[in-house]
Amino acid sequence: MTNPTSATDLVAATERHLLDTVGVEPAHAAAPEVLQAVSQAVREQLSQRWVRTQAIDRESKARRVYYLSMEFLIGRTFGNALASLGLQGDAAAAAEKHAKTLEDLAAGEPDAALGNGGLGRLAACFLDSMATLGLPSFGYGIRYEYGMFAQSIQGGRQVEHPDSWLENGTPWEFPRAGIGYPVRFGGWVEQPALPGGKAQWRPAAEVNAKAYDMVIPGHGTDKVSTLRLWKAVAPAHIDLHAFNSGDYARAAEVKNEFENISWVLYPNDSTPAGRELRLRQEYFFTSASIQDILARHLAEHPSLANLHEKVAIHLNDTHPAIGVAELMRLLVDEHGFVWGDAWKVTQQTFSYTNHTLMPEALETWSVDLMHHVLPRHLDIIFRINHDFLEFAATKRPNDMDFLRRLSLVSEGGEKRVRMANLSIVGSHKINGVSKLHSDLLVETIFSDFAHLWPERFTNMTNGVTPRRWLAQANPKLATLLDQTLGTAWRLDLDELGRLKTEGDSSSFRIAFAEAKQANKSRLAAMIARSTGLKVDPTSLFDVQVKRIHEYKRQLLNVLHVVTRYHAILDQPNAEWQPRTVIFAGKAASSYFMAKQIIRLIHDVGAVINNDRRVGDRLKVVFVPNYGVSVAEVIMPGADLSEQISTAGTEASGTGNMKLALNGALTIGTLDGANIEIGQAVGDDNIFIFGLRTPEVEAQRRAGYQPMRLYEADPRLKAVLDAIGSGVFSPDERDRYRGLIDALLWGGDHYFLLADYDAYIQAQARVDARFRDRDAWARSAIANVAGMGPFSADRTIGQYAKEIWHVEPRP
Ligand SMILES: *Cc1c(COP(=O)(O)O)cnc(C)c1O
Repeated sequence: MTNPTSATDLVAATERHLLDTVGVEPAHAAAPEVLQAVSQAVREQLSQRWVRTQAIDRESKARRVYYLSMEFLIGRTFGNALASLGLQGDAAAAAEKHAKTLEDLAAGEPDAALGNGGLGRLAACFLDSMATLGLPSFGYGIRYEYGMFAQSIQGGRQVEHPDSWLENGTPWEFPRAGIGYPVRFGGWVEQPALPGGKAQWRPAAEVNAKAYDMVIPGHGTDKVSTLRLWKAVAPAHIDLHAFNSGDYARAAEVKNEFENISWVLYPNDSTPAGRELRLRQEYFFTSASIQDILARHLAEHPSLANLHEKVAIHLNDTHPAIGVAELMRLLVDEHGFVWGDAWKVTQQTFSYTNHTLMPEALETWSVDLMHHVLPRHLDIIFRINHDFLEFAATKRPNDMDFLRRLSLVSEGGEKRVRMANLSIVGSHKINGVSKLHSDLLVETIFSDFAHLWPERFTNMTNGVTPRRWLAQANPKLATLLDQTLGTAWRLDLDELGRLKTEGDSSSFRIAFAEAKQANKSRLAAMIARSTGLKVDPTSLFDVQVKRIHEYKRQLLNVLHVVTRYHAILDQPNAEWQPRTVIFAGKAASSYFMAKQIIRLIHDVGAVINNDRRVGDRLKVVFVPNYGVSVAEVIMPGADLSEQISTAGTEASGTGNMKLALNGALTIGTLDGANIEIGQAVGDDNIFIFGLRTPEVEAQRRAGYQPMRLYEADPRLKAVLDAIGSGVFSPDERDRYRGLIDALLWGGDHYFLLADYDAYIQAQARVDARFRDRDAWARSAIANVAGMGPFSADRTIGQYAKEIWHVEPRP
């Protein structure tokens, strides 16, 4: 097979694949078939790069980092692969031969949506940066048959559909036939007869983890990284009896019982039902990954004694935290380590990122369930806990509360294993994802651990990859930046800082505004296609796109929309800045309140969008099925970025970074990375409002009374009364009574009413600034110019240096 290195080669390879791989007559190939053929031609190059990169790392016995994550929200690969291989022009030529454009082809690729939201997308951005920086690295996760559900809207309500992204196969994965590991579950542990003897796990079931690799190309380098995803398959030896005796239905049932482990991604906020399967998923991919890591190590080194010198394993949240116990088990039970040596190696190998401060979101597993699913690991966790508490007791003798808070096992009611505590005790570094979040970790939920080990806690502010979120998503702005700054910003986002002076050039501001306008028109066309609504592309595009969650406060945004609606009706002759308020996001299928908020957005939209008195001055749209590909169209078309979580709840946010990078101004609270974004772009170029974290805490302690705010503010009262009394749901008047009661009577847990007035005032400042389009363009440019620090390359560079101690390949 030839390696296509010029346009003619890629065209030729495409023609060959149409015939040989896709099996169609090239003259009659439709867009999906051309996409398949071009992808195959590109895949050949990726494959060669993968083989070469692996050989280099093997020969140099490189220290590698392994990023364990339950989620990787990758999106489409086609455009990204073309860009990183520099094959866009060649692929366009190959497509043109069949009267297609690259856009025609790209639209046919389903998103790889193996994640819920920010956490999964962060992992995908990190892979891009690890490959680009040339770090010897692997991502490890699960090859879900069904990823994040697809969302449609019917009668204003979210409807969930299975995401069968693998239905037609994917050209971007490489099944590794030879690579598989057994993962065992259940059974019991035979305790040693003599003290110092060995415990023996007698598992009751076994499933095979089979490796599927997605090759992650770096940009500006011919090196690649690997995302290795595990698929669960029944071991060949199971229940052959049923098969032999012709009972195929029974045999299939047994097979399914094993293989359902990698069937479906769990939506977050899901109910306890089916939680056992989730624990099995966590152990399944973690065990397979660590077995693979040890096998690779032993292929290059005589023993595991130096594992921690050659291997860094990172836990993306606590989902893979069971890995701490699994590595201990493998070292002690299967590789003959004594406990103390195994612990030193383990503890030097792991590091852990926390993603949430909300105590209710910290993962725990009941001891009973863990005993049932992973009895040997539970023993190991008890022993780790015993040793740890003995150590902690020497630090604060006789302080039982201290020990109770630190314990890996919570007592009081049902005993549960605290996965965050396990992660901290088993790691040498623990990080938060923004300065505020990392500070709060040490001051609040992990303060006891920080007291013991202050040096373990650090901050790594999140970032996003400029390749996908600027170069690929926003070709208009990317081209302007190339003309103005050259192309180096793709690999060094600090280059954008040179735009600061460009803001003073009126010709640059005009060109910048033109690019934004074109992107808004593209977004308006997408809105028309997906919702049937026509919006005015010259109106202010006010965007809130993210998972629907009470703490993110989409409802506060709706309160502003209704306030504005009332004000327009009140003062129809005032000069209103036309606005289009754009929402997108999925609600977890079991999260009632979040689904109500989606329905409310639609009900409010139906009334406002059809009220002739309002006309074009206010429109409300909800773009269905938010995901990476939808985000790639929305981010470049946004004027205003809504980042309005209650202070102290959003660990970092990355949507805020993508939007600012595409020239949107933020309206936001002093929460997560908004604070650092504000510092980077300057106070004049961001709209900050609302309570700060300590103020929220102080009000909570003092006894926050939302009803008082309702009684005191006639505007707010009118808005809540309208929603609560069914003005937007005339067919069912008390549809939103519960939503409003949760604010007035339920304590307004996320302080919407407390921030309402400040938010409305900030929105007025937005209008005023937007009326001066030139001033707005200056601010938008200042936002782009300030985004250097929010490149995932910066983040990963910091992880590599300060936590993982891995070096880029020479
Ligand atoms: C960036 C991103 C997120 C995270 O958004 P936040 O506003 O930080 O919550 C979620 N989903 C998708 C598809 C994304 O691209």
